Amino acid sequence: MKILVLNAGSSSHKSCLFDLSSADADHSPSPLWRAALDWTHQEGGVELTATNAAGDSMQQVLSTTDKAEGIEAMVKTLVQGPTQVLGDLAEIAAVGHRVVHGGHNYQNPVVVDDEVKATIESLIPLAPAHNPANLQGIEAIAQSLGTIPQVAVFDTAFHSHMPEAAATYPGPYAWVEQGIRRYGFHGISHQYVAQRAAKMLGRDLESLKILTCHLGNGCSLAAVKDGFCVDTTMGFTPLEGLMMGSRSGSVDPGLLIHLMRHEGYSVDDLDTLLNKESGLKGLSGLSNDMRLVTEAMEQGNPQAKLAIEVFIHRLRREMGGMIASLGGLDVVVFTAGIGENKSLVWQRACEGFEFLGLRLNDDPSRAQDDQDIATMDSAVRVLVIHTQEEWAIAQACLALLQPATGHM
Ligand code: ADP
Repeated sequence: MKILVLNAGSSSHKSCLFDLSSADADHSPSPLWRAALDWTHQEGGVELTATNAAGDSMQQVLSTTDKAEGIEAMVKTLVQGPTQVLGDLAEIAAVGHRVVHGGHNYQNPVVVDDEVKATIESLIPLAPAHNPANLQGIEAIAQSLGTIPQVAVFDTAFHSHMPEAAATYPGPYAWVEQGIRRYGFHGISHQYVAQRAAKMLGRDLESLKILTCHLGNGCSLAAVKDGFCVDTTMGFTPLEGLMMGSRSGSVDPGLLIHLMRHEGYSVDDLDTLLNKESGLKGLSGLSNDMRLVTEAMEQGNPQAKLAIEVFIHRLRREMGGMIASLGGLDVVVFTAGIGENKSLVWQRACEGFEFLGLRLNDDPSRAQDDQDIATMDSAVRVLVIHTQEEWAIAQACLALLQPATGHM
C-alpha cells in the first residue's frame, strides 16, 4: 500500500511517498520519494526539488505563484522525469495531510470530507498561517489525484486529552465557552517519539512517564503519562512556552499591554515582534539558527551567549513544570533539529535534573541512529530520537483506512 504524505506549511510544501506493504512497524523506512516546494526561494516563482530512493534527483524553478499548480508539478515527479517511482498515480492508495489545527473537534485522524474541510476552514482564525495552506493542499491533491481517500492528521489531536486544569487559562469563564484554551502543537512528533521511546526500552507506553522535548525552530515539551499527553508548553497558539528560533515563547502579558499603551505598538507590530523578531534571533541579533548562534557564542559574542543561556534556563524551567505534571520521570526524549543534534543542550538541560538521579554519558555525541545517552545506572533514561512526522502520518492513514480498504 503506497501512501503519499503532504506537509503543507505557509511558505513550503514537503511531501513523501511510503510503501507500507514492505514496512516493519518498528522502523520507519526511507521514503520511496521525497519532494519539496519552496515558495520563498525566488520572487514570483517556486523552487521544486525531488529525490528518490535510488538517489536520482531534480531541481527546477517554476514560474507560478499558484499553490495548486506547484503541488501538481511536484506530484508529477512521481511518474515523470529522473525521480519517477510509479508507473501511474493510481498506485497511490491514500494521501495523508498534516493539519496544524483541529481545535477541540478532532482527537484522532479523520478521512477528509466536506464537513472536515468546513471545520478546518472554521479554525482558520486559530491558525491563520497554517490551516489555509492545509486546505489548499487538500484541494490541490483532489485536483491532481481525483477522488482518492485523503486523511487529515492533526497536530493538536495528541493534546486533546489534556486534563481540563492543564488546558484551561485562568481568565474569565467566557473564554472556556469561546474555545479559548490551551490546544498544544507538534502533537504528531510528541506522540511518535513517545511511542518510539517505549519500543526502544522494551516497555509498554502505558507504564511510562515520558517528557518529550521537540526542539526545532518551534520548540515545545509534552508530558506523556499512561500513553496520554497530560500537559504541554504550547497553548492557544504555538507562541506559548519555550524560547524558540524567532518566537519569544511566554512573556509577561503585562509587557504587551505596556508596549501597546506606552510605545504605540499595534497588534501587527506585536505579532511580528513576538513571532519573527524574538527568541534566539531577537536576543542574539544574529540568527534563528542554533548552529550560528552557538558558533558566535564560542567566538565570545556576549549577545549570543545570553541567547543560549536564556534558551537553556527556560528549557529547564519548563521541563521542571512538565515533570511536576507527570508526578515522576522515567524517560526524557530529545527530538527535532536542535534536540537531535545539540549535545550542549542535552548536557545543560539535564544538569538541572541530576538531583533525580539522572546521569548522562560523559561525552554524548550524535549518532546516526536513535540512541540512549544516559549512563547505565541513571535513574532516568535519556533518549535522542529522530522525529518521523511523515512516517507517523502514513501509519495513521494505514490504521484508519485498513479496515475500509481491506489492504494488507
Ligand atoms: P523546523 O521546526 O523548522 O522543522 P528543525 O527541526 O529543522 O526545524 O530545527 C531547526 C533548528 O535545528 C535550527 O535552530 C538549527 O540550527 C538546528 N539544527 C539543525 N541541525 C543541527 C545540527 N547539526 N546541530 C545543531 N543544531 C542543528
